[in-house]
This record gives sequence, C-alpha cells and structure tokens, in this order.
Amino acid sequence: MTAKAMVEYEVVIGLEIHVQLMTVSKMFCACPTTFGVPPNTQVCPVCLGLPGSLPVLNARAVDLGLRTAAALECTAHPRSQFHRKNYYYPDLPKNYQITQYQYKVHPPLATDGGLAVSAGPSVTGEPPLRRRIRIRRVHLEEDTGRLVHVESGGQVLHSLVDFNRSGVPLMEIVTEPDLRSPLEARAFLARLRAVLQAIEVSTGRMEEGNLRVDANVSLRRPGQPLGTRTEVKNMNSLRSVERALVHEVARQRQVLEVGGSVEQQTRHWDERRGVTFASRMKEEAQDYRYFPEPDLVPIAVTAERVEQIRRTMPELPEARRQRYIAAYGLPEYDAELVTSSAPMAAFFEETVKLFPQPKTVSNWLGGDLTAYIKAEGKEIEDLPITPRHLADLLRMVEQGTISGRTAKEILPEMLASGARPDAIVGAKGLSQISDTEALERVVDEVIAEHAGPVADVRAGKTQALTFLVGQVMKKTRGRANPELANRLLRERLGFRG
Ligand SMILES: [Zn+2]
Repeated sequence: MTAKAMVEYEVVIGLEIHVQLMTVSKMFCACPTTFGVPPNTQVCPVCLGLPGSLPVLNARAVDLGLRTAAALECTAHPRSQFHRKNYYYPDLPKNYQITQYQYKVHPPLATDGGLAVSAGPSVTGEPPLRRRIRIRRVHLEEDTGRLVHVESGGQVLHSLVDFNRSGVPLMEIVTEPDLRSPLEARAFLARLRAVLQAIEVSTGRMEEGNLRVDANVSLRRPGQPLGTRTEVKNMNSLRSVERALVHEVARQRQVLEVGGSVEQQTRHWDERRGVTFASRMKEEAQDYRYFPEPDLVPIAVTAERVEQIRRTMPELPEARRQRYIAAYGLPEYDAELVTSSAPMAAFFEETVKLFPQPKTVSNWLGGDLTAYIKAEGKEIEDLPITPRHLADLLRMVEQGTISGRTAKEILPEMLASGARPDAIVGAKGLSQISDTEALERVVDEVIAEHAGPVADVRAGKTQALTFLVGQVMKKTRGRANPELANRLLRERLGFRG
C-alpha cells in the first residue's frame, strides 16, 4: 500500500524581542527619552558619538533588566560585560552599537529562564495546554538613531537623521526555538507583554515601537535536525505577528513540498498585502567583530541586589491568574483572558468592585469587548470608557431596565464614543418594557393576530407559547421583558405547562 505523499512538518519558532525600557534618561548619558519631541533636541556628545565622550551606565536600566530576569526565572550573572558590535550605518554615529553578546567568559546580564504560556482554549473545551518556553538570554543595549526619508512623487529626495532615539535603553529577550505554532508565538508574546507591564519595565505598546519582535521560523520533519530558518521582521502588533508567521510557515511548506529548499534570509512582513518578502539588500554573513567595550567596566550584580529585586516584585500575571481562579471562581480560560494585559486586569478588578459578579464581567470583557478591540486594532486603554461605564451597563441589565440583547447593541456605541449607557438608552428609547399595562396591550394584539398558535397554547403546547413570546418581542423590537411577556401570555390563555 502506498502512503499518500503527505509530509507532516513540525513548526519551529524562536523570538527576539527588543523592549524599550521605561527610563527617564538614556543608557549612557543624561539626555531625556521623551517620545515625539522635535528632531535632535535630546542629544549630547555621548549619544552623538563625538570623539572623546565617555559612556556612563544608567543604573535604572540595569535594575529594569534584573527585574525582567527575575520575572522570567533567569540567572543574573555576577559579572556581565558590554560589547561593541561594529557596523556602519548613518543612524549609528559611533559606527558601533554598545550591546551584550553571549560569550561564556563575558556573559550577558542574565540567561537560562522560562515563561509558561497557554496557546488559547482547545477546540474540545479542555483546559488550554500550558508549556514552558525557555528564555535563552536577557541583555541590555542602546538604540540607534532614526532615518527620516523626505519623499516627493514616490521618490526619495534626501534622508535626514534624528538622533533623539540614539542611546535610548533597550533590552533584548531571546527565546529558545521552543514555540510550535503561530498561535503559540502570539500567546507567548501576549504573556511576555503582560509581564513587562506588570513589572513596569515597558508600556508594551507595539505600535509605538516599545516592543519590537523578530521571529526565526523553520520547518522540519519530527525527530530531524532543525531546518533552514528565515528571519521575519516588521510586525507591529500581536495580530500581525500571528498573521506573518502563518504566512511564512505556509510559504516554507510549499517550497519543501515541491522538493525545494528554504533559503536562509531576512524577510519583511507587508501588513497590507498579507505576505512576507525577501529584503532586496544582498544577504551576507556580517562579521560584527564583537569585542569587550573598553570604556565600561563589567556590570557587577551582587546576590543582595538580586534578592532585593525579587522581594519587591509586584504580582506577576501568572500569580494574578491563579488568584482570579481562587478568589473570583473564574474558569481557567476566563482568568487567562482577563490577565492578558495589565490594563485589562486593572479594568476587570475595577469593574468587579462596582458590579460584584466576576463571571459576568469576564464574559463581557472576554466576549464583546475583546472582539471590538481586536476588530479595531486597539488596546483596552485606548477606549474612551471606564469600568464605571461597563458596570452601569451590566447593572441596567440586572435591574431589567434593558435586555441583554439591547446591551450588546449599545456596547459598540459606548466603545466608539465613550457615551454613558443610560444616555444612549434614554436618547434612543431602548429601555425595556417592564410595565405590565404597556405590555398587556401588545400581548392582546398578538393573541388577536395568531388564532392557530393561541389554540395550541390552550391545548397545552409549550412550543406555541414560545412562538407567541417571540411575536411580542418582535412587535416591541426586543424591548419587552421576556419573563413578563411569558407570564402575561400564560395568564391570558390559561396555560399550565
Ligand atoms: Zn545624550
């Protein structure tokens, strides 16, 4: 018997994440790091790379690196070293970047950690599979300047350099190639971002470049050595990371299935076209001639400092997830969802304080609200509503002022405009009809119009009663209180079922 020529491939993904650290000054000078100020207004001889200037290490950046190392269960090395990475580019005035490299004798800040993630709920409804993704290293480095291309009619006239970003503190987090699907890579990033937010290391805003992700992707047959990988760049949201990886995996699979071989190259994600493409620059193995930075002494980290950082760590998302399960009785999936980012968790807790029904709150946050955020490409902190808005909406449903269906209808409007739910309900006349007298008129009309079903109800058929309730709802455009409509119909028709 010949087996079908279907080859199963295993997906292998590793991530490199650059994180802009939340410091007020740059990595090696006192210049501020304020975003969005006029070009070249936050510069000095050090970050302009002028001859004779000397770097002075930002202690706060080291602390943030150590906090991250602790949160990711990494080993912080007692002595770590900065290196020069040598290359020429107009946004790099010194012609080298100060960074850290993974040498055994001159280790980076921290190595060998891990972070557990769940790759979403399983289709069978079982608790999501949790896996620990290994972290290879956490290291510190400086950012480069930024090129601004002046274009006219689709042509670049000239390029300008803005050095405000030059020397801004960055941290690079490198994973082992442990991720096995685009969905898992996305889940890992979401978890990592929540951790970085919780320990106040980064704002986590990918669209502002605070978190930049490069992904190494390859395919292999199970049990075989790693295949040739490509590096995918230029993804600026969690969604685009998942989309780019789905595309790149499919592309490599196609190449391999027709007997081709994957070329090692850097590929860029085109968000609009939904494809990755090879960069036009000729690929060559760069020799960066790393060597220890002679202007900086090694970073010395004492056991006391590591212990001090460990002691003052705020609650991490994993601990928060477990607390939500224990304290609020949330199912695993709900707990995962509402701890997906620090702002989401804060929104959840505030709403529950105002409307103490955790499961209902998590249903709304994880359901309609998350769907809206995803569709709009926003974050919860971008929305013009507060926990008070959501709590008010849920209370109106609870008190029977509006139906659950009406609540779902007005939520998008609240999310778009920030209007209060009672204002929308008032302006549109959406409040539920719970007034017996008002509803009796509608019930009588329905009875008069549907002689057949009325006879069926009198004969004790439940299905016909459901139909008549539906007619009342239809006539009131969903505004009738369904329980009241049901009771009135039963009374009128003498139904005992
Ligand atoms: Zn400076």
